[in-house]
Amino acid sequence: MSWKVDVDGDTCIGSGMCAALKPEVFVLEGATATVVTGEVEPDETVLDAADSCPAMAIEVTEKGEVIGPRP
Ligand code: SF4
Repeated sequence: MSWKVDVDGDTCIGSGMCAALKPEVFVLEGATATVVTGEVEPDETVLDAADSCPAMAIEVTEKGEVIGPRP
């Protein structure tokens, strides 16, 4: 089982928090974060990154169901 991770580049404000939390998954390119890999093994830190994104720009899905950010 794996999770899919997306960053909305139009919404991202380039805070860099996600890349600091999980550099294996997120990288800051200029003023916008992108994903190093869109498919990740389940990892609580990826959900933490989605939860803590100040722009709510990160979406984590499992089998098409949104699991992050958490409510
Ligand atoms: S935490 Fe959110 S706003 Fe900050 S760089 Fe990552 S995706 Fe962009």
